[in-house]
Amino acid sequence: MSNKSINLTDTLHQYLLDSSLRESETLKALRQETAQLPTANMQIAPEQGQFMALLVQLIDAKNTIEVGVYTGYSALAVAMALPDNGQILACDISEEYTSVARRYWQQAGVEDKIDLHLAPATETLKRAINSGKNSSFDFAFIDADKENYCEYFELCLTLLRPGGLIAVDNVLWDGAVVDTQKQDVDTCAIRAFNQQLLSDDRVDISMVPIADGLTLARKR
Ligand code: SAM
Ligand code: CA
Repeated sequence: MSNKSINLTDTLHQYLLDSSLRESETLKALRQETAQLPTANMQIAPEQGQFMALLVQLIDAKNTIEVGVYTGYSALAVAMALPDNGQILACDISEEYTSVARRYWQQAGVEDKIDLHLAPATETLKRAINSGKNSSFDFAFIDADKENYCEYFELCLTLLRPGGLIAVDNVLWDGAVVDTQKQDVDTCAIRAFNQQLLSDDRVDISMVPIADGLTLARKR
């Protein structure tokens, strides 16, 4: 038995998927289409999508934020877990990637739940704050450019209600966070974000070693 997170071999990871993944046909088809793209590793893992869907249900989320949509897998997983009147304020800058997303959201019948804004996410989130939406969101998922993680976190925290949850992706960055040779902008930004969050007493936190690392932060 291990009291630290177990190292998943390919076989064990496959076992985890075989014995727990309940992926809808639409999610699976989206994942298969995205897998053909050279950027496919930007998509979250399916077991992470299922985990986030469960989190959203656990906190009875209705209004949510997504920063970084890509081809729409995480937004689709969350949208399907939201109630009929649930909404995602979705932020991305790529028409090309999100045109794939829109097709699958339509196929799953959740397109009305997703309000996609094609603009830098800081602009979209600041516009939401300026239109009086502070403290009105239940859940946020941050998964866009790593350089802006600290700013995205601040803006999402302002928009979140007390008790709301922020999930921040790629916090282990394929192990680069502990590799002193890696001093590129993205790696340094993730290290700085992780360090800053550790002493942030506005939130309760847990860094979950699922997929590429997902930090959960609950607004106090
Ligand atoms: N969550 C997605 C999923 O599950 O498939 C993956 C998101 S991908 C890692 C990052 C996305 O952030 C890309 O689609 C990219 O276009 C978008 N992005 C990059 N810079 C951005 C910015 N400044 N504002 C909004 N989106 C941005
Ligand atoms: Ca990611």
